[in-house]
Amino acid sequence: SKEIRLKARPVGEPKPSDFELATTDVRQPGDGEILVRNIWMSVDPYMRGRMMDRESYVPPFQIGEALQGGAIGQVIASKSPKLAVGDYVQSMFGWREYALAKAEAFQKVDPALGPIEAYLGTLGMPGMTAYAGLMKIGELKDGETVFVSAASGAVGTVVCQLAKAHGCYVVGSAGSDEKCEWLEKVAGIDKAINYKTCGDLDKAVGAAFPKGIDVYFENVGGKHLEVAINHMRPFGRLALCGMIEQYNDTAPRPGPSNIIMAVGKSLKLQGFIVSNHLDIIPAFYAEMGKLIKAGKMHWQETVEHGIENAPKAFLNLFSGANAGKMLVKIGPD
Ligand code: NDP
Repeated sequence: SKEIRLKARPVGEPKPSDFELATTDVRQPGDGEILVRNIWMSVDPYMRGRMMDRESYVPPFQIGEALQGGAIGQVIASKSPKLAVGDYVQSMFGWREYALAKAEAFQKVDPALGPIEAYLGTLGMPGMTAYAGLMKIGELKDGETVFVSAASGAVGTVVCQLAKAHGCYVVGSAGSDEKCEWLEKVAGIDKAINYKTCGDLDKAVGAAFPKGIDVYFENVGGKHLEVAINHMRPFGRLALCGMIEQYNDTAPRPGPSNIIMAVGKSLKLQGFIVSNHLDIIPAFYAEMGKLIKAGKMHWQETVEHGIENAPKAFLNLFSGANAGKMLVKIGPD
């Protein structure tokens, strides 16, 4: 079985040489265990944080060991009554072709709700992140104004369409004209701003929000956060989901220079980690099921093929080469 290991802790932008491809033997399952052939694996921005040796909400990856992350596969051998050969399952044993562990480490996925790979994106962790951040942390109310950064990504697309489904005025920012066109034409948001070509981002956001922003869904950090603070309405909420622009920084950067505005405008800035908000899951699936059925939830995927291309897929997240969810297809369906 092939797997990708962390070879060196990246400094700044990760490089292909920070990863290595290795081969291991696959043994048959023991009592209570199952063997899964992975079909899809996810690469996610949060993995950059796990490559650093520091205390965080998840333990760091270890040098010389296979990386971990979301994966979807099929059970090919089972010594557990909980899962049968043929079942599709989700796990955190990504970055490898085969996964062997106790059945409890896997969750069955229902192929009826959507394609199995969607459980790594819209129907999985990124979708839940969007839901928790927008509804719970952002305390979204119907008809409000919403600004979303990295709007065409895995999390961003769900945020945009959920907000639209709640009758909101939605503006997103993304890094290419194609992404902006998809956001306006397919995801149906009110306006998309190409932050790379718009010139002055502050002016562009100001023009798009003549009455200000009620909820800012933060995926990017840096200039985006400062601009959002400038245009927030009184009692606005900022759901701090991620700050990908800063993940490869090698030194701390100054905070938003206008943070003082949070006082006068009575803003709420709250960070969150999706795994602390799993109470939303029933509401999430109920709402997503309805939206998908009604044709009101669209998504895109960018797929790299073969486990050996997983590092490339991961690196591409930082150049915005992905439209929608970045995935790696590991084996045949
Ligand atoms: P995406 O699918 O959005 O992929 C990352 C995107 O970020 C790229 O496509 C690119 O889009 C944009 N990007 C990359 N570098 C920069 C940069 N320097 N400046 C501006 N934009 C950049 O990833 P996800 O949807 O999986 O994640 C989105 C955010 O949500 C991330 O910050 C992630 O860490 C966070 N997250 C947080 C979770 C939580 O529990 N708090 C859980 C899951 C994700 P573009 O072309 O538009 O620049």
